[in-house]
Amino acid sequence: MSLPPLLNGTELYKTFRVSGQRRSSKLLTALDNVSLQLAAGETLGIAGESGCGKSTLAKVMAGLLTSDRGNVFYKGTQLSLLGQDDKTVFRRKTQMIFQDPFSSLNPRMRIGDSISEPLKIAGLSLPRQRTELERIMAAVGLHGDAVNRFPDEFSGGQRQRIGIARALAASPEILIADEPVSSLDISIQAQIINILLQMKLEFSLSMMIVSHNMLVLRHICDRIIIMYLGAIVECGPAATLFDRCRHPYTEALIAAIPGFHALSATKSELLHDDLPSALSIPPGCRFHPRCRHAVDRCSSEVPRMKEYANGHTAACHLSKQLYG
Ligand code: ADP
Ligand code: MG
Repeated sequence: MSLPPLLNGTELYKTFRVSGQRRSSKLLTALDNVSLQLAAGETLGIAGESGCGKSTLAKVMAGLLTSDRGNVFYKGTQLSLLGQDDKTVFRRKTQMIFQDPFSSLNPRMRIGDSISEPLKIAGLSLPRQRTELERIMAAVGLHGDAVNRFPDEFSGGQRQRIGIARALAASPEILIADEPVSSLDISIQAQIINILLQMKLEFSLSMMIVSHNMLVLRHICDRIIIMYLGAIVECGPAATLFDRCRHPYTEALIAAIPGFHALSATKSELLHDDLPSALSIPPGCRFHPRCRHAVDRCSSEVPRMKEYANGHTAACHLSKQLYG
């Protein structure tokens, strides 16, 4: 019997009520029938333009946000049915890393104390807390003398190391990182990505990484999910997605990568106009108003997700015609 996926999201819907004109309110669809699995030991990337629902999905999978419909299962058990103790275990086992870890660090707490907090909660003796703290700080490349300093004394890159260290101190199984390097200088980005990769091996983690940077995802992920306006439009092994994508939106995202010339067309040719509002998702294929290949059918019929190769799925009426 095969093991259930570590984390399994099934048919997730999430809407937000936003205020409209004259005290009216409207429903915005942030997740629309999203299903995904994270296998043990896997690194799964979530890509898509800003506003596509990536952060909402990350929070729902981490149990920080409840979906309106659909369920998240942790090792086969529905999150909403976990008892208090199991919920506490899940919260510890699933750690999130945010774009700006500063916001989740107490500005008046010394770094050493911040990172040690999960160790203390886990009931480790003081000497063990100290040894563990040293091990984790060394693993993320923080100097020992950082323990007595405060968050505002650190640069962005160092803060992200602190954020990762704090997450690791909880001995997680799953790390969900939401744009972990987006606010950092390019040179620092590579350092943080490498730390995440090392940590994954050293601490046997499964990871979900949200990024609008496709190259970052190609570098570190086993599989990539492409989201567009709240829905998954393509999903597949990272290398396959880059070599042979099956959705015009993925093609456009790849073409938009600066300096990446795998395709001849440029972003402006492939991805014109801005992302439509999640308040009024286009009928038919939600990408059709921006798709240069769209035909009549695309504006009326919702494309179903089809599997083209093992683990490679896409939702586009024209996929076969366009990509063979
Ligand atoms: P991404 O991370 O891909 O940029 P988000 O998940 O943050 O996307 O947002 C998806 C959509 O949901 C966007 O239209 C965003 O404005 C909206 N949204 C996200 N969070 C909220 C919220 N708390 N209240 C209202 N709208 C929200
Ligand atoms: Mg986001």
